[in-house]
Amino acid sequence: MDSPFDPSGTVIVSGIQPSGALHIGNYFGAIRQHIALQDKHPSFYFIVNYHAMTTVQDADMLREHTLSAAITYLALGFDPERSNLFAQSDIPLLNELTWVFCCLTPVSHLEKGVAYKDKVAQGLTPNCGLFNYPVLQAADILIYGGTLVPVGADQRQHIEMTRNIAQRFNNRYGPLFPIPEAYIVDHVATVPGIDGRKMSKSYGNAIGMFEEKKELKRRVRRIVTDSTPLEAPKDPDKDNVFALLRLFATPDKEAELRQAYLAGGYGYGHAKQELIRLMLDYFGPARERRRELLKDLDYVHDVLRQGAKNARTVADACMERVRELTGLVTMLR
Ligand code: ADP
Repeated sequence: MDSPFDPSGTVIVSGIQPSGALHIGNYFGAIRQHIALQDKHPSFYFIVNYHAMTTVQDADMLREHTLSAAITYLALGFDPERSNLFAQSDIPLLNELTWVFCCLTPVSHLEKGVAYKDKVAQGLTPNCGLFNYPVLQAADILIYGGTLVPVGADQRQHIEMTRNIAQRFNNRYGPLFPIPEAYIVDHVATVPGIDGRKMSKSYGNAIGMFEEKKELKRRVRRIVTDSTPLEAPKDPDKDNVFALLRLFATPDKEAELRQAYLAGGYGYGHAKQELIRLMLDYFGPARERRRELLKDLDYVHDVLRQGAKNARTVADACMERVRELTGLVTMLR
């Protein structure tokens, strides 16, 4: 029988951190592509709770965010008949592969990690988990033979590290892993948060997809803009509100808003009102489905269970090959 670990075709893999409510940066940068690609090729989407532990160290919160991420995927159109969704911790073999990869990764590579350096620059005392984050991520991608990784632009460097680790393994032990490519949609590569920096759960600058109306209005009103007066023309390409508006607007609507900015007499307050309207419309049907899913958690658990079973079959087969190639003896099987 052919091995379930079969990296000969396209395999799509990607993860999302359950470190807070998923936001519109996660959606446009990653989740929308995950759902669009789900029936094109075998795909594995995981909720990276091991990764989230680098910052979330409250058990109830980690559980809650993990389940909530699964509900969000299903509400947005993830189809468990066509693809696999599961919690990363259901594949504990990842930790074994991470160890193998740690032994192939120079510390100096991880010291150059942008996400790591950024968190340190913010004054966070880094733990080993945060430092090794890209190695676990490489295991996440390669254990399923991933070839295509739909992510936002912030992940570019991490995917480069995964490629590097796969190459090192293949050179040292023989060809096993395909060298994966990042799949980044250019015009949504980095969605700005309300303070203009990259939107992120960890910066407190995110707008959640399913924010209550009152909270949504509060967050949108806080989006940072410049001080151009209402009457004056404005440059849409330098404005955070417009950067978000264009994600939700149809091409015609985007052109109309661009015109309004350039003409003057259209204030940032108007643009924010429009953004709230467009967001509520855009996520309206998903919001409804989410309400239904919250009443049927058994179904959500079943989806995660089945996804994990499928993923584990592939991960087991991969690790068997890894142990053979690396000389890790196993007497108990
Ligand atoms: P966060 O920084 O909010 O914790 P994650 O690390 O969970 O996000 O990222 C999950 C996916 O969402 C990744 O593919 C990442 O590239 C994408 N993503 C996160 N934030 C943004 C953003 N602001 N713009 C575009 N994509 C993003």
